[in-house]
This record gives sequence, structure tokens and C-alpha cells, in this order.
Amino acid sequence: MSNNIQSVRGMNDCLPDAADTWQGFEAIVRDWLRRYGYREMRTPILEHTGLFKRAIGEVTDIVEKEMYTFVDELNGESLTLRPEGTASSVRAVIQNNLLYDGGKRLWYTGPMFRHERPQKGRYRQFHQVGVEALGFAGPDTDAELIVMCADLWKELGIAPTLQLNTLGDHASRQRHRQKLIAYFEAHQDTLDEDARRRLHSNPLRILDSKNPAMQALNDAAPKLMDELEDEALAHFEAVQALLRANGIAFEINPRLVRGLDYYNRTVFEWVTDQLGAQGTVCAGGRYDGLVEQLGGKPAPAAGFAMGIERLLALIEVGGHPIATPVPDAYIVHAGEAAQAYAWQVAAALRSAGLAAVLHCGGGGFKSQMKKADASRARFALIIGDDEAAAQQVTLKPLRGTGEQTRVEVALAIDILKQA
Ligand code: ATP
Ligand code: MG
Repeated sequence: MSNNIQSVRGMNDCLPDAADTWQGFEAIVRDWLRRYGYREMRTPILEHTGLFKRAIGEVTDIVEKEMYTFVDELNGESLTLRPEGTASSVRAVIQNNLLYDGGKRLWYTGPMFRHERPQKGRYRQFHQVGVEALGFAGPDTDAELIVMCADLWKELGIAPTLQLNTLGDHASRQRHRQKLIAYFEAHQDTLDEDARRRLHSNPLRILDSKNPAMQALNDAAPKLMDELEDEALAHFEAVQALLRANGIAFEINPRLVRGLDYYNRTVFEWVTDQLGAQGTVCAGGRYDGLVEQLGGKPAPAAGFAMGIERLLALIEVGGHPIATPVPDAYIVHAGEAAQAYAWQVAAALRSAGLAAVLHCGGGGFKSQMKKADASRARFALIIGDDEAAAQQVTLKPLRGTGEQTRVEVALAIDILKQA
């Protein structure tokens, strides 16, 4: 085994049982997004490295140490496997002038890549569903994004809790930044290496530290909330009022700053204590400056991204089980006439929308019935020379009780559709 090639560390195969669950999850998500009027957009997995540096920020965990960046040897360009979906979405919206006739409600799903230490709930290739509302400035959009998440959690049978904060606008952030630098400078001895490095380049990021030794210092740090301008405060209060009106509970967490630079005003995370250390299942907020920062005409924007692996893990420990499909029938046949008839029967079942697995590879009834059982099919549909001559099939339920019956194909199809 040792010289077999294995998958890349932190990048997982999605085997058929898991893929069934993913498909069920995706179907729920697509329908949920449809009901909110969001439309899918698909962008490339590779982008120019500069996009992420400009969008996410040079002094962030992602850009400093998590990106899969390489030089395209054919033309010397620096390319990066996308670590998140917002930068690409905004790039595509600008490049294709999608905001020319007003705001757009968009969503995407797919793999993201971050070179992190793999552990439960943290992978190097992971998957997100992301939602972006571009061109909408009001607090109603922020609140709707949050309400729609709550709606999905209800449908999935999970109950993460909502943490909410505001990052204010440019001026308040500048004032807060100066106060933070002064505060952290006064506590140089307690700062860890990351914090020291970020002290002057991006002090807000220090508050996002996962180092327990930094917690007490961070808890006592100057609060942005004390610096907020009136408009940002009114926006934040309006978001909260809409959440209350819609029965959404939340906790204000002044330490919530998010790991990406592009956010302003509302930020939020949905967290759970049921998944150990990797407890954030969905995160987002407002990023009014990003469209302009990436070269577009200024346009407000807000959105969120959820981690599919973490959500599926949460559903597994206590959500509504996601229905997965099984074949309706496994078609067992022996003899030449039976085989020819079995092909016709399989085609008739499939035309009727049923999932029919046709036995291939010969063998006796007994070994074929074992394969029928292993296929998880609901029924074995048995065809011998007798059945072929009579243009009938024998239906044998493979789950539960129920008698086997010999019927015409049309009736078999009715029974399979009802059962
Ligand atoms: P964390 O603090 O856990 O590193 P983050 O702030 O880097 O998360 P975001 O960039 O906000 O994460 O991504 C949105 C969501 O995507 C996260 O809340 C999480 O559910 C999921 N996610 C992020 N990174 C990973 C990863 N390496 N593996 C699996 N899921 C991830
Ligand atoms: Mg991270």
C-alpha cells in the first residue's frame, strides 16, 4: 500500500453515500435560495493572485499563510486557488457590468482552498454556499440575509446561535485603530508574535486571535462600539429591530471582527457548541467598499458564506436526517429470452421515472438476489423464461414484509410508484 498514491492531505473524497447526502443538502439549499429570489453564479476556481490580495487584504490569515498560490509556468502569471467566493463574485460582477440596472441577488457553491492545519471541520479543500446581495445599502438587506439563514436552519433541524456586531464606517474604524495601537503598545509584553507583527499594519486583526493567552488582553481592549458614527449606529439599530420583529434571537459580540478585511458595518456569525473547536457554520456581513476597491463603480454589498462540511456535521449530530435516494428496483433475470425481456422492462421503468438497476454479468438467481439485496433497492424484479413468455414480472419486496406478486409491467410500475 505504501507506494500507492493517496489524496492530498486535507482534501477529501466524497464517496457515494456521502455524495447522496450532499445532493440532498444541495437540493434543499437550491430551493431555499430560489424562494428568496437569489440566482446562481459560477466563477472559475483559479483567479489572479492579486484579486485576493486586494479584496481580502494583505495582512490577513488567508493571504499571509493559507493561499495555494503558484506561478503558471507557461506565462509567468501568479495564480491562486480561490480561498473564498466573495472576491471572485465581485470581480465577475464588475467585469460583466451586472449592476448596470440595479442590485443583484446572487449565490454560488463550490470548493474553496486554504492551506490550514487539517482537523475535524477544517480542511484544505472545503466547500461553501455563499450568498451576495450587491447594490443594496439598507439595513433591511442585512436583516433579510440573517432571517433567511434562520429559515434554512429550521428546515435542516439545526439551531446554531447568532452573534452580531458592527464594524462601523471608515472614520470610526480609524479612530478605533489609533486607540487599539496605543492600547496594545502599552501591553507589548503580553502580545504574541502574530499580534506584534500586526500591531501597526492591522491591529483590528489582533482581536480575531485564537490564542487563549491573548483573550484577557483582547477582552479589555477599546471597543469600536464606543466610536461609532450616528449613521452606522442607526443602521445597526435598524438591523436589530428587524431581527426582533422577525423573532430572531442574537447576542452582540463586540469582539467579532471577522478574518477578512473587506467588512464594514454589520458582521455576523452563526455558531454552535456541538462541533468542538470548529463551531462557526456560517459567517458574513456588509462590505460596502469592496466593489470600488476592486475597480467597480461604488456599490454597497452584503453577504455570507456557510461551510458545507460543518453544516453536514451539525445535521448529523442532531438535525433532520437528509433523505437519500435508493434504486426502486433491481432487475434479476436468467435465460436468453429473459435477458432480452429484462432490457425492455428496465427501459419501461426508466421512462416512467423509476430508478432501475439491471443485473449485468450473468450468474444464477441466488447470487443475483444477493446483489439485489446489496443494491439497497426497494424491490427485486424477477424475470425468468416463464415471465418472459407471459410478458410479466415477479415483484419481490426487499424491505419490510409484503408478498411477492406476478404482474404485468404496467401494474409493476404502478406498484413501484406507489410503494
Ligand atoms: P475560521 O475562523 O473557522 O477559520 P473563517 O473566518 O476563516 O473561519 P470564513 O472565511 O468566514 O471562515 O468562511 C465561512 C465559513 O466557511 C466558516 O464559517 C466555516 O464554516 C467555513 N470554513 C472556513 N474555513 C474552513 C476550512 N478550512 N474547512 C472547513 N470549513 C471552513
Ligand atoms: Mg480561517
